[in-house]
Amino acid sequence: MTATPNSGSQRTPLTELERDTPFEQRHIGPDHGAQAKMLAHVGFGSLEELTAAAVPDVIKSAAVLGLPEGRSEAEVLAELRSLADRNQVLHPMIGLGYYGTFTPPVILRNVMENPAWYTAYTPYQPEISQGRLEALLNFQTVVADLTGLPTSGASLLDEGTAAAEAMALARRVCKARAPRGSQGLFLVDADCLPQTIAVVRTRAEPQGIEVLVADLSDGLPEGLAERGLFGVLLQYPGAGGAVRDLTPVIEQAHGLGAVATVAADLLALTLLKPPGEMGADIAVGSSQRFGVPMGFGGPHAGFMAVHDKFARNLPGRLVGVSVDVDGNRAYRLALQTREQHIRREKATSNICTAQVLLAVMAGMYAVYHGPEGLRAIADRTHRYAAVLAAGLRAGGVEIVHDSFFDTVTARVPGRAAEVVAAARDAGINLREVDADLVGVACDETTARAQVAAVWDAFGVTGDIDALDAATEDALPAELARRGEVLTHPVFHQHRSETAMLRYLRRLADRDYALDRGMIPLGSCTMKLNATTEMEPVTWPEFGALHPFVPTEQAEGYLSLIRALEEQLEAVTGYDKVSLQPNAGSQGELAGLLAVRAYHRANGDEQRTICLIPSSAHGTNAASAVMAGMKVVVVKTRDDGDVDVDDLHAKIEAHRDTLAVLMVTYPSTHGVFEEHITDVCAAVHDAGGQVYVDGANLNALVGLAQPGRFGADVSHLNLHKTFCIPHGGGGPGVGPVSVRAHLAPYLPNHPLQPAAGPETGVGPVSAAPWGSAGILPISWAYVRLMGGEGLKRATQVAVLSANYIAKRLAPYFPVLYTGPGGLVAHECIVDLRPLTKATGVSVDDVAKRLIDYGFHAPTMSFPVAGTLMIEPTESEDLHEIDRFCEAMIAIRGEIDRVASGEVSAEESPLRNAPHTAAALGGEWNHAYSREEAVFPAGVSAADKYWPPVRRIDGAYGDRNLVCACPPMDEYEG
Ligand SMILES: *Cc1c(COP(=O)(O)O)cnc(C)c1O
Repeated sequence: MTATPNSGSQRTPLTELERDTPFEQRHIGPDHGAQAKMLAHVGFGSLEELTAAAVPDVIKSAAVLGLPEGRSEAEVLAELRSLADRNQVLHPMIGLGYYGTFTPPVILRNVMENPAWYTAYTPYQPEISQGRLEALLNFQTVVADLTGLPTSGASLLDEGTAAAEAMALARRVCKARAPRGSQGLFLVDADCLPQTIAVVRTRAEPQGIEVLVADLSDGLPEGLAERGLFGVLLQYPGAGGAVRDLTPVIEQAHGLGAVATVAADLLALTLLKPPGEMGADIAVGSSQRFGVPMGFGGPHAGFMAVHDKFARNLPGRLVGVSVDVDGNRAYRLALQTREQHIRREKATSNICTAQVLLAVMAGMYAVYHGPEGLRAIADRTHRYAAVLAAGLRAGGVEIVHDSFFDTVTARVPGRAAEVVAAARDAGINLREVDADLVGVACDETTARAQVAAVWDAFGVTGDIDALDAATEDALPAELARRGEVLTHPVFHQHRSETAMLRYLRRLADRDYALDRGMIPLGSCTMKLNATTEMEPVTWPEFGALHPFVPTEQAEGYLSLIRALEEQLEAVTGYDKVSLQPNAGSQGELAGLLAVRAYHRANGDEQRTICLIPSSAHGTNAASAVMAGMKVVVVKTRDDGDVDVDDLHAKIEAHRDTLAVLMVTYPSTHGVFEEHITDVCAAVHDAGGQVYVDGANLNALVGLAQPGRFGADVSHLNLHKTFCIPHGGGGPGVGPVSVRAHLAPYLPNHPLQPAAGPETGVGPVSAAPWGSAGILPISWAYVRLMGGEGLKRATQVAVLSANYIAKRLAPYFPVLYTGPGGLVAHECIVDLRPLTKATGVSVDDVAKRLIDYGFHAPTMSFPVAGTLMIEPTESEDLHEIDRFCEAMIAIRGEIDRVASGEVSAEESPLRNAPHTAAALGGEWNHAYSREEAVFPAGVSAADKYWPPVRRIDGAYGDRNLVCACPPMDEYEG
């Protein structure tokens, strides 16, 4: 065509040339030709025909999504730019747990902006996750060393929820008796961060725990033992900046049999005596200031470190050291029995997705700076604070505390607002504590200019160098840190950027992420995280905002947040969305708290029963317990559906006490159950509410709306359906969506009235809009796709799942299907008959898939001995076929075991995965080296080499090591 000279009739009109390739075609893997092939294989003529058959009529929404047409990537980037321009970046000196930090560019680009890190999945397949597991072990070592407590987990959601988790841990382990009708007393120092206190209160209320906030600077009040004191929470340094020795208060608390938790600042701890040495049992906090942008509140990695005796009670994930079958050191998640999937309503906490990517960044910040570098940053931060305070004092301003690290509280009777306004005019945000007090927090980014400008705002002047020479440090000598920290070689070997770059690359290369191939995880929706969606996250106008800035500095954020809420309302059919929950689990909790508050407002305090099908995700049961509910399990039928007879029987049995039914839709079995609307009606008839777990929304967007087919409340997982990357196990966003009658009970925030209703249940996250910094990703996705594009994505996701189900069915039975023998957006293949006949287990297949260059599907959830496969709409037909062919080839390998040609033990399945190292030396397997590492379809040039062989998890649990192994071992 192009060769023909332009004659009038053949000229392509500008209007056509001006249209870029629609983003939809970049996001959806299979093109029209591929879709046609797949449709033919599944036996349908069009996507419409397929989804008309797959989706039950009763839930189908007639209306198209009320969303505008998709925009091009260039247009959406321009829109994001103008939103960003409406945010004002001032110098952040508000403090309160969020600080300016300089993300080393080598970490910014090679971790935060690198798909090798951000598109990885949670490290459940440890053999292909050694890089991020090592990075998390670094994080755990940093936290353990700095807090002086030996066992640290691999990240919690934020500081506020970490404190609430500490309260729950203390309640579990403390034997103190509570008075009748109470679950005991949790004592919180008044100098704790205000948002932490508020999150703790939200969590305590449904548990029946009494929270007492008191000034503990002179010790504990009287009469606590009678009130069943079980735990104390202290802040170090305090929210107002004070640094004091907590040893006496901790001793007093221990004297009463209570557990002591210290919320601590990691940077301060490089200079200060650690909580562990003061006798604390638990330390919690945020690692944000270790190089993680504030992002208007998140995401950042919260942490918890505990005394050895509580290691087995730690919430969230813990990385530990173990060995592989060759005896080589290998990392994996330790003590997995703590996961909710096994413990369910007895689980330690409901945390599933945490903050892995941000924990990796914080750990790498420590690796790059090393102990001396961190100390130097802390020293400088402290000197600026000391000099700033000295200047204010010299100018006649009273400084409230003599000892502080980075935060100075100044008394200016009646003038606080005026001083804060003057600083703002100079481009600096200070904290207006009350009418008389102003808080000024220094950080890594503070420089002389800010010190001078702050003085100016207070109306004083000073000579920085003269004051520096004349001013002592403001840290108490007896609290000086003694002894070395971060002595492990990893914190000393990567100081040059070249060394750091290579270390990051080396670890990333050990891992399998979406940038290498498909991660077909059922229930987790590992789809494309488009670069356009990701770009704005690290723009300073989104990254550098403190969560407590005045709203007029965050207008871009607020419009984006409102727009995203509206987009999600349009998608789900609900009336109101809160973006505050920073993981699906937290959305569940928020949704159930809303249900609880609704019943109580109606005088139905006795409604505490939560019905949950046995096939539900483990977080459901754990969240219900946290919301003060009692879990009653509903049976699942052999065909995978909820047992409707049992459900009706349970509704009847608990008619007067039923609070809510919690179901996943489409079901965790990947099926559109046809009776969902009847089920909803029956629950409503009994006075209960219906919670639809929205983790599987990728099967519904554009086709059906839970808010319209009978549910009252759902959480969504923006890190599944709406393109926020998994980050190797977080970050996530778990918005809670409700119908109007529950809207008054959504989360709110004490420091930000705009973040939720006045009548709300309190905050479930430390920040007003949770992980605000990553919301541009989901907003951009919806904007790029438009209503039609979103619907097509869902249709292709359903098509791909059915295509795989159909291709694999002759080799592996597909466990459950719905209308027309079709599945929804995922399918479960059953290995149990093969396992029974041959001894080849689901683990063997999962590990053998590594040799074929794949990440295994979800293993043994929701049914033991099965694999759940979810291709998503983003995988193209070539990749889907490659996966099917690998599965079929594996079936051939199983057949050789079945026929007796080779035993299961001697098969490549049992010995998988095979490493490059395994090829060297002697080879005494019944199959060739070639068969081991280059099975059918694997090209030598593109081979993914797992760094370790199959890992012995039990060994590591018996010999629990959760910090970097000692140096002598390292050398070997
Ligand atoms: C992922 C998932 C959750 C939990 O969400 P997180 O963000 O990991 O806390 C809950 N329910 C189902 C069905 C899920 O797949």
